[in-house]
Amino acid sequence: MTEQTMQAVVLEQVGGPENLAFQSVAKPVLADPGHVLVNVKACGVAYRDIIERRGGHPMMRTPIIQGHEFSGEVVQIGSAVRRWRVGDRVINRYTDSCGACDECVGGDERRCVQLTQMYGLVTNGGYAEYCAVHERGLERLYQGISYEEGACIMSAVSVAYHNVVNRIAVRPGETVLLTGASGGVGNAALQCIKLRGARVLAVTSSEAKVEKLKALGADEVIVNDGSSIHRAVRAMSPQGVDAAVDCVGSSTLGSVLKSMKRIGRVAVIGTINPEPLKLNLGTLVVNGLTVKGSDGNTRAAMREAMTLVTDGKITVHIDRTLPLQSAAEAHRLLESRSAMGRIVLVP
Ligand SMILES: [Zn+2]
Repeated sequence: MTEQTMQAVVLEQVGGPENLAFQSVAKPVLADPGHVLVNVKACGVAYRDIIERRGGHPMMRTPIIQGHEFSGEVVQIGSAVRRWRVGDRVINRYTDSCGACDECVGGDERRCVQLTQMYGLVTNGGYAEYCAVHERGLERLYQGISYEEGACIMSAVSVAYHNVVNRIAVRPGETVLLTGASGGVGNAALQCIKLRGARVLAVTSSEAKVEKLKALGADEVIVNDGSSIHRAVRAMSPQGVDAAVDCVGSSTLGSVLKSMKRIGRVAVIGTINPEPLKLNLGTLVVNGLTVKGSDGNTRAAMREAMTLVTDGKITVHIDRTLPLQSAAEAHRLLESRSAMGRIVLVP
């Protein structure tokens, strides 16, 4: 390996995990004066990576270096970069933003109409030693949070936090149903719901994960494949639940909707199953349900989530760390549902 090359995992074309090739590639050069070169220290592997690797995202470009959630150290800055210095510890956001369009100036850069980068999807991401990131695609990683934990903040912890606190606004004393509680987002959502003072009914498909979920704070654990969650919920809470966070998708959402109290709120975060959901709209209308798709996170949510981590109020659960060359193994572990929390790749 020379100074102009780096090790990376390249997905040449969508397909199985065997398509993830660990190889030597050209080290990124800063093509834009607003770009920052990040030496990647850790990269989270989420179920989203698997969906995209299989070809489940219409915007996916190949060949691509996957990895939409990473942490690292700034090692070089472009001439126009004002926010970062060499040596800064950073984590990425899903995309950059222009900072100048009406949406950005209006305060919601997630709606930016001029973004140029989407990490791991159309722009090379964190399954690599280095990544070239627009300066607005980064957030500062708080002191006291390790790089491995940092690689789970953006797309796991802060998405959970944002959905629980802002999107469905869980209140003290409520009962909240949570599916996919063993995953990276689910683990964090469970802790966020408890922090809000609510009761959590956590759903897992695996008996082996019951004790771990109870240790994490689940008040009740329902072991169910998704087909009859509502029966277990009604047995515990006959009126149903006030709110729900679904981190699985079409195999659980139908039963989740049947588990709701009237005027209940549901956040849909996971879309693990490719099959569409057959939905009787009367379920929504008669019960006055609000169903909201996850809208990711905000910079404010990332900062609040990091504060909760540094204060020891939320623990980042990492199933295991693996070397970068084990990306395919990480995908297989997630596909077999044998992981608890995020898997993190370390270059
Ligand atoms: Zn913009």
